[in-house]
Amino acid sequence: MQITLELTTDTSSQQTMTSSSRKYARDFLSFVNASPTPFHVIESAKQRLLKAGFSEIRERDSWAEAVETGGRYFLTRNGSSLIAFGVGKKWKSGNGMALLGTHTDSPALRVKPVSKRFAEKDSFMQVGVETYGGGLWHTWFDRDLSIAGRAMVRQSDGSIVSKLIKINNPILRIPTLAIHLERQESFTFSKETQLFPIIGLAATALNKPSSPPAEEPGKKTEDGEFKPLVAITERHHPAVVGLIAKEAGVNVSDVLDFEMILYDTQASCLGGINDEFIFSARLDNLDMSYCAIEGIIESLELKDALDDESGIRLISLFDHEEIGSQTAQGADSNLLPAVIRRLSTLTDAGSTSSPTAYEETLVKSMLWSCDMAHSVHPNYPAKYESHHRPEMNKGPVIKINANARYATNSPGIVLTEEVAREAGVPLQLFVVRNDSPCGSTIGPMLSAALGIRTVDMGNAQLSMHSIRETGGAHDIEYAVKLFKKYFERFSKLEETIMVDSTT
Ligand SMILES: [Zn+2]
Repeated sequence: MQITLELTTDTSSQQTMTSSSRKYARDFLSFVNASPTPFHVIESAKQRLLKAGFSEIRERDSWAEAVETGGRYFLTRNGSSLIAFGVGKKWKSGNGMALLGTHTDSPALRVKPVSKRFAEKDSFMQVGVETYGGGLWHTWFDRDLSIAGRAMVRQSDGSIVSKLIKINNPILRIPTLAIHLERQESFTFSKETQLFPIIGLAATALNKPSSPPAEEPGKKTEDGEFKPLVAITERHHPAVVGLIAKEAGVNVSDVLDFEMILYDTQASCLGGINDEFIFSARLDNLDMSYCAIEGIIESLELKDALDDESGIRLISLFDHEEIGSQTAQGADSNLLPAVIRRLSTLTDAGSTSSPTAYEETLVKSMLWSCDMAHSVHPNYPAKYESHHRPEMNKGPVIKINANARYATNSPGIVLTEEVAREAGVPLQLFVVRNDSPCGSTIGPMLSAALGIRTVDMGNAQLSMHSIRETGGAHDIEYAVKLFKKYFERFSKLEETIMVDSTT
């Protein structure tokens, strides 16, 4: 591979960046910068899939006519989860699938349903926020924050639609207390009263034309209309609703409701002396989500890619992993089982499907549960098991846990190793120390629900759940190449790794 000319330092330990891995890393940066919320992640994914020739289908329709062998499709649920797949031309009902799952959400602060606050004799305007997931919340202090999400708005024809919103200006900040006023050994704070952003000075708000007086909920207005809730401009600062309305291209009175989270406006970038790092928000798990999308797209890039394929290649990007996945669009919902069931009975015109096609498909399939892993931390080496210390830029990490916090087992490792050998991608192994807590993923819950062979893996990173994490720039290309090869080779390799065989 070609070595870029931009590298000028020459140390034996340096990790050089090839033009190819730089291209992947930069493309990932544009993906993550465009995707501050799960809704934006799905929109970014949709754009890439449409460009690659995938067609959008809907869960509410019958797929009997819409889905054909040799086709590439995707569907979304709630605008925050997505499944994309390609159907082999040699597909038969009950055949196996190469599945790969990731998640679209990250810990964040979400704007409360009634967020308008004034503090300190009404001098500061503040915005009430709710914690989502297990964030390293101290990292949210003194960052240049803004809001993004989706708004439900009424259009001129009276229809109600969902609009993506991303305010680019840094309008919010959670200020720390000056050290002169309190010398804390460790930084502790109240998540209710001190993790509380300011959005401006009230004097500015007072100089702006005020919104019309709010009608009281439960009472009829002058024109006889019944209002069950307080007006949205009373629940939130009118200026915030105004920004959302402007972004959505509607009048303030047509903003009906919204789901907004806070995000850091500082763009993700390459970092380190040789650009070997990625400094970014949401590496967990947009790193793996990006690699899943690009991996399946690359595996289906050639027109005849599905000609000799007997299976289905499928990625699923789930919302709500950080809060346990038990939602309508989470990994613990019927989303993936329902899609697998519908596809498992897919037949050519004229042929019929077996009543046990779903169960047959599950047994022949495999799931790669892809979520970020922990790189060894140079300042806390004692926290890591001595013989399992993954490093950044050394390839995806297979995660193993005797107590099944990860779903990996030996048949899965053997298959992954074979795929990686063919792809020329290095792998690493990870277990936690016996005296350490262990995270988990969507792997165990999906493998239990479906009885599918599962491998947990992910790229190594530092500072997981910080507002600014650190990952390896080379690892993006490694994972895309690995996922591409998995999709290309699974149907053939699957038959060679039998555990419950009759011989
Ligand atoms: Zn994760």
